[in-house]
Amino acid sequence: MEYEPVIGIEVHAQLLTKSKMFCGCNTDYMGAPPNTHVCPVCLGMPGVLPVINRKAVEYTIVTGLALNCQVPEATKWDRKNYHYPDLPKGYQISQYDLPLTRDGCLEIDFDGERKRIDIRRVHLEEDTAKLFHEEGYALVDFNRSGVPLLEIVSEPDLRSIEEVRQYVTKLRTILRYLGVSSGDMEKGAMRFEVNISLRPRGGEEYGTRVEIKNLNSFRAVLNSLKYEIERQKEILQSGGKIKQETMGWDGVRGVTVPQRSKEYAHDYRYFPEPDLPPLELKRKWIGSIKARLPELPDAKRERFIQEYGLSEYDAGILVADKEVADLFEGYVKVYPKGKSVVNWMSRELFPLLNEGRVTLEEFRSKWPPDYVHELLDSYDRGWITQSTASQVVTVITIGGDDRSPRCIIEEETLAQISDEERLGAIIEGVIEENPKPVADYLGGKEGALRYLVGQVMRATKGKANPGLVNELLIKNLKEMAQNM
Ligand SMILES: [Zn+2]
Repeated sequence: MEYEPVIGIEVHAQLLTKSKMFCGCNTDYMGAPPNTHVCPVCLGMPGVLPVINRKAVEYTIVTGLALNCQVPEATKWDRKNYHYPDLPKGYQISQYDLPLTRDGCLEIDFDGERKRIDIRRVHLEEDTAKLFHEEGYALVDFNRSGVPLLEIVSEPDLRSIEEVRQYVTKLRTILRYLGVSSGDMEKGAMRFEVNISLRPRGGEEYGTRVEIKNLNSFRAVLNSLKYEIERQKEILQSGGKIKQETMGWDGVRGVTVPQRSKEYAHDYRYFPEPDLPPLELKRKWIGSIKARLPELPDAKRERFIQEYGLSEYDAGILVADKEVADLFEGYVKVYPKGKSVVNWMSRELFPLLNEGRVTLEEFRSKWPPDYVHELLDSYDRGWITQSTASQVVTVITIGGDDRSPRCIIEEETLAQISDEERLGAIIEGVIEENPKPVADYLGGKEGALRYLVGQVMRATKGKANPGLVNELLIKNLKEMAQNM
């Protein structure tokens, strides 16, 4: 029997507020010594009272609106009770039955089609402290305790690993566009829980689901799901039953491992937080937040296609990172050939970024729009070859040369040799020095021409116009054949 996975995802994202959710502690704790960004409130001392962070509420509403959610007239806070050393109060302030926003959706592109993934709710809670498990004991750092944490819960609408990949990637992009979260998984700013069950393909009923908690990267999400799909398939195919349970992911061994048995909502004994009033969400305020929503990735992609004549693929690459999209727009304003600019960025910038040889900020500071204009204009007019253009990028970006591209091209005489007379002499030399490839070509081996073109390019240090070299070589060789 063929099975289909049914997957739902909870995404937790730390909000980029300056202070914590219910106290004034600074959230910028990365690299700080343990337990230095703390106060009686986030340490859960008796008798303290929480104060709601307005910015965190606003960021949650912005996110909900960007995900097409409804914002109710009122919201409230609830205590989620459990005992664990990362939770000093013995409960987490969260939201249970009246989340800040609900009933939204996110569209993903899959197999050339759009698919709608429903979002059940986007709510706000506080992060827990961080535990460090050592040999025989554990240490607690409360710097993270009380940092505002967004929770985005999808309906179980995802049907494949690829859909999951699209969904989490797009969600992260949107959070970064909105400026509400860094989405930096290496710093723990974005974490995931997934639930997965299998059912016969085309079926209606849901199978028994397994939850996988504490996933800290896209890779952990995708690999744990891949593993769990196979594990469940094997059990079902051999006539077994899936046990409803909570698992963790052992990334080193590449397996899911059972944790505690399934917790039901009532295990947490949710009840309204008596120390915080319900919040009335005034329509005027919601309206003003909505009016400030920035252009989101889908809209930007469409605009790039329309405005700059880009392909869907190119536009998609650019808008995947708002800073990259902004950089592109800065360049294209000065050099209005979208295709040239995006090709150049794909060829030069993206490999440097991927190899970690330059940061986007460094690149931006070294390549102001007028530099890009000078370089691309020289290349598009055929004054320099692609390899020269690449050299100039390296010299400026990595070599730290602060001359402008045009200055470098002129002073280093990098301009392409398009002078037929000069090239003609070099070509004659190459023909003379390479009798074997010449004979091969004349004998019908077309491939030998590529070797000869390469020799001319070498002799000119890559500065010859390759199209012209090709043309002149063929012309010379034809004449030789006629005179033979
Ligand atoms: Zn505090």
